[in-house]
Amino acid sequence: MKVKIKLCILGHLPHLSEILKIEEWNSSIFEITGINSLNFAGCSDGPNWEFLDNNIEKELPPNADADILIVVTNVPLQDDYFVRRFSDNRICITYSGMSDILIFNDIPLNNLLLRLLYSATLVYKSQGNRIPLLSEIKFTHDDPRGCIFDMNGADKKDIVYSTNKPEICNSCVDSLINNHVTNNTVDEALIVETQKELKRINKGLYFKITDRIKKHPIITIIISSLVALSIDLISHVIYEHFK
Ligand SMILES: [Zn+2]
Repeated sequence: MKVKIKLCILGHLPHLSEILKIEEWNSSIFEITGINSLNFAGCSDGPNWEFLDNNIEKELPPNADADILIVVTNVPLQDDYFVRRFSDNRICITYSGMSDILIFNDIPLNNLLLRLLYSATLVYKSQGNRIPLLSEIKFTHDDPRGCIFDMNGADKKDIVYSTNKPEICNSCVDSLINNHVTNNTVDEALIVETQKELKRINKGLYFKITDRIKKHPIITIIISSLVALSIDLISHVIYEHFK
């Protein structure tokens, strides 16, 4: 059965329409059961204008009818994290500090949210259908591996490796399959299916083409010159034929 995920947009979110493209995403392991939006009731309380956990928790709506509630915002969170976990299977993700990195690297903004939807689904399944609190257990690793469980704590720019064709690294696969803490193991078939779907999280056709052009500029110039020359020749032949 698919994990039911509800999304809530908290406060003003720049590039909202880009992020809402996530509604079109098809997955066989989770389904988005609804998206609503909320305004902030209070202000930040951290020394650097961030929202500390106790404060942001007051802003989160209750998780009434979904397996996981993901709240998307654009304010800085505690300890400069971009994802924080809360009670009742609620997770808060912020685009603060992340949008610029993604835009600069031509990565669609909703890829970051998709990465979370997949990692949260696997965590939920591996923990006996619940999302533990941050204080209970850590799922991420500090070194970036292009894995959906990359921490990206030291350098947020490393997020680019896990938002374009992300993977689940071998050690994360191993800990999901052989979970010694809860004895709730994730079915291997679910991981294989997830890995297949993660390949679809990419830059999109337009930026794939521009990437290729940047990588092979000389070949691109030669090909486009040849194409232009061929069009010229063909049009000349047609002109001569009908003259
Ligand atoms: Zn990993």
